[in-house]
Amino acid sequence: MIHPAHRTISAATGLSDAEISGGDLTVFSPVDGAMIGAVRSADASGVETFVGRARRAFAVWRAVPAPIRGELVRLLGEELRAAKDDLGRLVSLESGKILAEGRGEVQEMIDICDFAVGLSRQLYGLTMASERPGHHMREVWHPIGPVAVITAFNFPVAVWAWNAALALVCGDSVVWKPSEKTPLTALACQKIFDRAMARFRAGGHDAPDHLSQVLIGGREVGAALVDHPDVPLVSATGSTAMGRAVARRVADRLGRSLLELGGNNAMIVAPSADLSLAVRAIVFGAVGTAGQRCTTLRRLIVHESVRAQLLPALVSAYESLKIGSPLSPETLVGPLIDKAAFEAMQDALMQARDLCGGTILCGGDRVDLPGLEGGYYVRPAIVDMPAQTGVMLHETFAPILYVVGYTDFDAALAIQNGVTQGLSSCIFTNDLAEAEAFASARGSDCGIANVNIGPSGAEIGGAFGGEKDTGGGRESGSDSWKAYMRRQTQTVNFSGALPLAQGVEFGI
Ligand code: NAD
Repeated sequence: MIHPAHRTISAATGLSDAEISGGDLTVFSPVDGAMIGAVRSADASGVETFVGRARRAFAVWRAVPAPIRGELVRLLGEELRAAKDDLGRLVSLESGKILAEGRGEVQEMIDICDFAVGLSRQLYGLTMASERPGHHMREVWHPIGPVAVITAFNFPVAVWAWNAALALVCGDSVVWKPSEKTPLTALACQKIFDRAMARFRAGGHDAPDHLSQVLIGGREVGAALVDHPDVPLVSATGSTAMGRAVARRVADRLGRSLLELGGNNAMIVAPSADLSLAVRAIVFGAVGTAGQRCTTLRRLIVHESVRAQLLPALVSAYESLKIGSPLSPETLVGPLIDKAAFEAMQDALMQARDLCGGTILCGGDRVDLPGLEGGYYVRPAIVDMPAQTGVMLHETFAPILYVVGYTDFDAALAIQNGVTQGLSSCIFTNDLAEAEAFASARGSDCGIANVNIGPSGAEIGGAFGGEKDTGGGRESGSDSWKAYMRRQTQTVNFSGALPLAQGVEFGI
């Protein structure tokens, strides 16, 4: 039976009882473990239907002028503004992130819509000087086709928007396979998209049906989508294990993949750092979203000269954290997504302590909250490590912060770069030479490198993504839009003669 309070929140976003009941995929809220929905998932023939519709939608949409496509995304941004509180609350209910972060996630969707609207008039190509007289060379960006978007539970709505807002202005259709843990927020986004589409049409614009669709299901459904030859681009966000499986399958059919995978993000705290700023950045970076962000701070590399001052300050900040229901405004740390995440955290702490010689400075235990017994609430942990080894090299999706010391800046850089993941990184320093060295070619090897800012909470204007096991994809701002289009080099001959390139003579 679905909890009535949860039903109310879903209703606020436009989802009816019938749409969230009676299906085969049950959805549980991490807030208290209660069932909040049972939705219908697709099967392999469903995937065929969805891709067929997306192909037909694409055939129409690609011919709509890009600034008109931008108008649809502008309306989507308006609808998201109107739905911000309701959708943000549903994000909190379904993924467990605190209200401020749930609303922040919707704000990110609004921001990328604004960005994409401007972009719809700026899908610029280049012109090149031709070596031949009476010839004109240019590069044109064309829509690529239906884009598959596969998303993780921890950013249940923003990642769709990052992809969809760009894909739509680029002239593509979208098939979204959300995490099986967060289908309700995806269905709510579809309602919001449908409202934008209705206003777009009411404004006199033609748009095809099924331009953006939500395909519910688990990894088998995701895999069928990934394998489909009519999907030229697969944008997949999730674990590195998922990315490896997806990359192989897409490569096998010579499709394109855009991968946003796991991170193991670090901060270097240098001797000149402003420690009070660093403490605030560390706490938000390491415990925000209960350690379940791809950009969560997991490794702290601290200069030995500040270690004795920094660690007690951190432990005391951790002790003051309010842990509780994410739906209560004063909470800073909500629940883990489920029991498996809690067990993975316990296992990682055990390995750090028993196999790596780490000392747990605080946290790690489960917090029982009256009325929320079905939720997995934990006290965020700090582990002092003798060296960067074992479990510290892996991403555990939970609030565990490992600390190691350093004396030499180059050694700190080597520790920062000494993991297989390459998403986000940062340094706290007031030494200009150190800051610039960190950001230089010999510095951080990550996709994101910040100075005096923590590793998480990126703005949408920059390209987002990481290197190495993080997958190499870039989404969101800058020129990430190019991934959603195909590049065509065009040469036009208006000379009346037929000179060949490189001066080749071919006398016939
Ligand atoms: P997950 O890998 O378990 O699942 C992610 C999505 O992939 C889900 O929709 C799932 O159904 C689908 N999937 C899994 N296996 C698949 C397969 N073989 N073929 C097709 N689809 C498949 O990840 P999760 O637990 O939901 O999310 C946490 C992970 O996501 C963490 O590793 C985190 O770092 C990462 N993440 C990365 C970013 C980023 O931008 N780099 C953003 C958010 C989350």
